Amino acid sequence: MEANLLTSITVAEICTGFVYSELEGKGLFGLSGKLTIQPEYQRNYIYASDGGKREMAVIESVLRGYPIGLIYFNKVNNNRLEVLDGQQRITSLGRFVTDKFIIKDENGMEQLFGGMAKEKKKKILETKLLIYECEGTESEIKEWFKTINIAGVPLTNQELLNAVYSGTFVTLGKEEFSNSLNTNIQKWSAYISGSANRQEYLECALDWVSKGNIGDYMSRHRNDTNITELKKYFKTVIEWVSKVFSDVEKEMCGLDWGRLYEEHHNKAYDPKKISKLVQNLYSDPYVKNRKGIFEYILGGSKNKKLLDIRIFDDATKRSVYTTQTAKAKKENKSNCSLCKIEHDANKSRIYKLEEMEADHVTAWSKGGGTDTKNCEMLCKTHNRAKGNK
Ligand SMILES: [Zn+2]
Repeated sequence: MEANLLTSITVAEICTGFVYSELEGKGLFGLSGKLTIQPEYQRNYIYASDGGKREMAVIESVLRGYPIGLIYFNKVNNNRLEVLDGQQRITSLGRFVTDKFIIKDENGMEQLFGGMAKEKKKKILETKLLIYECEGTESEIKEWFKTINIAGVPLTNQELLNAVYSGTFVTLGKEEFSNSLNTNIQKWSAYISGSANRQEYLECALDWVSKGNIGDYMSRHRNDTNITELKKYFKTVIEWVSKVFSDVEKEMCGLDWGRLYEEHHNKAYDPKKISKLVQNLYSDPYVKNRKGIFEYILGGSKNKKLLDIRIFDDATKRSVYTTQTAKAKKENKSNCSLCKIEHDANKSRIYKLEEMEADHVTAWSKGGGTDTKNCEMLCKTHNRAKGNK
């Protein structure tokens, strides 16, 4: 790959013919139409999120004469350049000089570019940028792009994959899963965590359909001209979840619904009964892990580990141990409730506290609480034998 350092291009030149698409949330062109600001493999413009602090910081740096860092262009041919790195900064500059956002001046006054003093405007427009113009093969450039870290906001995994496998499939995928105009995104946000803009919804959809092999799937479908399978699978999973669980709980967000769908979608569920089960577990103070409730129910309410049921605390154990041991000594029997009714060598054995474990007299799953009244101490052997039943 070859690279030439350009030092004379000004902000004014870069911003000539600047076009920003509100619809797609990205800067499109600059440098009198010669520069494509957002090639396919670039991410959406994110400097405007976060209350716009990042885009304001770009302008403030320029006004103070601070460098805004190296910018990289890819020379496609003599008449066409693409931004490889610097899209966010260039879009900030372009948006500012076209009055798309305000900054605050040294007196805290809000200012649009159009309303600024002449010498400040001049300072911005005449600032020269440091630009590397690179020329290389697609794979060289993509390999290199994979290794850079853009201006303090690292690429997410999916943004990186979008760069590496850029093409028709990625374009269509982004149109569906990271498009702020897609009204489904709001609905999906109940089940999917992360940000659609940072490609995390696309990542989730790909993860589900590929059973975790995103890169492989993207490489196989790279030049597809439709994303039918991806869309259909995603829709199926979301519909299945929303039918089985009629109430939307915040702990549902970010669960591995793709895997749960694969494991359980062939079973029949009664949404009314399910809803009742969910509500019961939500109001159960012994359930520590609410995120586990959904998989627990889907699996037939068997795997209690998913719920992380609250266990007896040390004070409860010690208190029950003391009472139980005093009583046992008086009766000359074992302080393990099960040893004492057996006829072996342990029937009158007194265990130390650390040799015993706490057990629910009435099981949690049958409504037994995790308090002193429902606690008994068993020797480890008996407790474990009981736990396996
Ligand atoms: Zn025992």
